[in-house]
Parts: sequence; structure tokens; C-alpha cells
Amino acid sequence: MSSETLFISDLHLAASRPEPVARFLDFIRHRASGAESLFILGDLFDAYLGDDNNAWPFGLIKQVLKQRVDAGTAIFIQPGNRDFLLGERFHLETGCGLLGDYALIDLYGTPTLLTHGDLLCTDDVQYQAARVRVRSPEWRAYALGKPLWMRQLYARWYRFKSGLDKGGKTQEIMDVNADTVQRIMLQYGVRRLIHGHTHRPAIHVLTLDGQSAERFVLPEWKGSEWVLCWDARGFRQESLPQAG
Ligand code: MN
Repeated sequence: MSSETLFISDLHLAASRPEPVARFLDFIRHRASGAESLFILGDLFDAYLGDDNNAWPFGLIKQVLKQRVDAGTAIFIQPGNRDFLLGERFHLETGCGLLGDYALIDLYGTPTLLTHGDLLCTDDVQYQAARVRVRSPEWRAYALGKPLWMRQLYARWYRFKSGLDKGGKTQEIMDVNADTVQRIMLQYGVRRLIHGHTHRPAIHVLTLDGQSAERFVLPEWKGSEWVLCWDARGFRQESLPQAG
């Protein structure tokens, strides 16, 4: 196995979208087998309502992740805004490590900060306030204490409501705030940041304290995605084979 580290995010896997599910399973079974580690930076699932949901595709995805971990690829998952209810049971059932909102890793000698990306979108004050509420241990315990069918019903209503809310928000509000990006990078002492969430794939070069820094934004999986592949020599953006 080569020393290679892969990064993906924003797959938004759901029963209603079998095609990306198939591509992800294929990616884990085949492409990821050549990697030392894989980081999934949030929104692996489009709506994750608790570790007790083993309906398709959740149960199958857990099984395939576990097989890959058992075969020697370390897999780490960061919570996204759509799957922050990933919990201890998921970790135990898959062997995937669950990361916090910010994770600092050593990527072949360079300190690198990983985050889903929603925390960087500080212009969306309304979202950030709601985020604080649903990430509290109290809210989590309350929500997970409800039966699954009730959580599903609530999520459907919430999805409908937030769809309406988004209509009134500008594209700028839904992107990262440049000052927040700089502040967080300085706080963690990094010159490299990797995140997803905004669905605006890019490699940005910025100046941080007079020195060059870089921000990688991963694409969502909707048919033309690439995987960010790192090894000791540097990075590559690798396209995945498309279905059909
Ligand atoms: Mn997201």
C-alpha cells in the first residue's frame, strides 16, 4: 500500500439518489484500497438522523466502510451540517474515526487544517445561530431521544422550511467569509486549509501574515467530482470514473 492520503466531502448520499451511492461504494471498495488514509470532510450523508437507521443505504455503507478499515485504510469522518448526528455507535460499527469541527493533521510534513466549511460561512448569521442550538448536547440528546420515524418527519419539514429560507439568501452569504478564514488559519497556525460545504471547488492562494497560504475547496459529488490525493511529492486532483 502506497503512502497516499485522500480527501472527499459533500457526497450527500441518500436512498433517493442511488447513483452517487453506487459510485461511493465502488470508490471505497476499489480506489480507496490503495490509500493509507481517507478523510471525508462532512456531508457524507444528505440527512443523517441517528446511528439507529440501518435502512438502505446506511447499513450497506457502514458494512463497506468497515471492510475497508479492516483491510488497512484508516478512515476519518468529520461532521457536516447534514450528518452531525453521526455518533459513537457508527464509530464502533465501522471503525471510522470521527473528527471534531476542526482537525489539525500533519500532511507529509505540513500542518494542515481540516473542517467541513459551514463554520467559515459567518455572514449567514441566521444559520450560525441555529447551528449553535442544534450542536448542544441537550438538543442532541433531545432529538435522539425521539423515535426514528419522528426524526424523519421533522427532517422533512425542516428541509422544506430551509429550502424556503435559502431562497432569500445571496450567493455571498452562503460562501466563506475571508476574514474568518484568515482568523482560523492564524489561530491554528496553518498555511493550508482543506474544506468542502460551499460546493465551489477551487484552490485559492492567499496571503497570511505576509506569507503565501492555500485553501482547497472540495467539490460536491454530482457527477464531475474529483478526489484530492496527496502523497509526499504533492497533490493531484483525480477524476472518478463515471457510471454508465
Ligand atoms: Mn455542508
